[in-house]
Amino acid sequence: MRIADILSDGKIHLSCEVFPPKKFDGLDEVKRVTTAIAALRPAFISVTYGAAGTTPGLTLEVAEAVRAAQVTPLCHITCVQSSREQVTRVLRSMHEAGLQNVLALRGDLPKDGAPCGDFPHAEDLVRFIHTQGDFCVGGACYPEGHPECPSRALDMEHLRRKVDAGLSFLTTQMFFDNGLLYNFFFRMERAGIHVPVCAGIMPICDARQVARVVKLSGSIMPPRFAAIADRFADKPEAMTQAGIAFATEQIVDLVANGVNHIHLYTMNKPWIAEAIFRNLSGIIGMNT
Ligand code: FAD
Repeated sequence: MRIADILSDGKIHLSCEVFPPKKFDGLDEVKRVTTAIAALRPAFISVTYGAAGTTPGLTLEVAEAVRAAQVTPLCHITCVQSSREQVTRVLRSMHEAGLQNVLALRGDLPKDGAPCGDFPHAEDLVRFIHTQGDFCVGGACYPEGHPECPSRALDMEHLRRKVDAGLSFLTTQMFFDNGLLYNFFFRMERAGIHVPVCAGIMPICDARQVARVVKLSGSIMPPRFAAIADRFADKPEAMTQAGIAFATEQIVDLVANGVNHIHLYTMNKPWIAEAIFRNLSGIIGMNT
């Protein structure tokens, strides 16, 4: 099913993300994790591409496991390390396998700052994907502005161009203060962007993740969460519980304020996804 159709059915949606293994021999474990997350019946499961050193070629293998578990897969593709020929090959394989949903991303630039070859920006990749077949294409957005962009206004202008290039939906970077998302929606409205947005929520259940997340995403960590991380840093069980409670509370507030699409960065940890789905069972149950 096309993600755009799923998101337009008027229901509350919880989707999840998995990432492929770094090496081929980790594939069975990732498939096991994927099947466990799929058993929660998320609206869809996205599968990352080459992120954090994972093997790009395995994205489609994991997407097949998502589909085998009767959940709609969303395959990421990045501009980084992708030539026109490579993207054409991936899209052809997707088409042959009946996979129709793509998240088109630039990818994180390599440390040497080398440019992205055939597709400098995600916008260029979006245009190219539409020349290759009938795909439902989504993209990334940043409530706090993309860290490389000098201003949030300019980043919003780039986002408008990317959406106009042919995006049917967006997924946000993780954020920890819902006020940032509400302000982002206001600015999107003013920029004339009207596609559905999945709010990206990352349950932080290990205090060591905090610094990494802030560095990667440029996200502001609210003092309320910083206090949690300080207090429970060396108490793994307490930190897991607090991270799940924080993410749950964030989602409850979002849904109460009319945000119907939530994307969980589940980091290949089914037990965290399970806890959040359990906490929200009454809210998800409103769909029936
Ligand atoms: P773009 O939309 O190309 O934007 C990148 C920067 O360029 C921004 O600063 C933007 O303002 C600027 N820009 C955009 N268009 C133009 C233009 N026409 N002219 C000048 N400047 C422009 N990374 C992975 O490697 N693999 C993944 O699977 C992956 N999945 C992700 C999923 C989500 C939901 C998110 C939020 C991020 C994901 N990332 C992934 C990370 C992402 O690739 C990085 O955040 C990357 O730095 C930006 O990607 P983008 O698609 O937003 O890029």
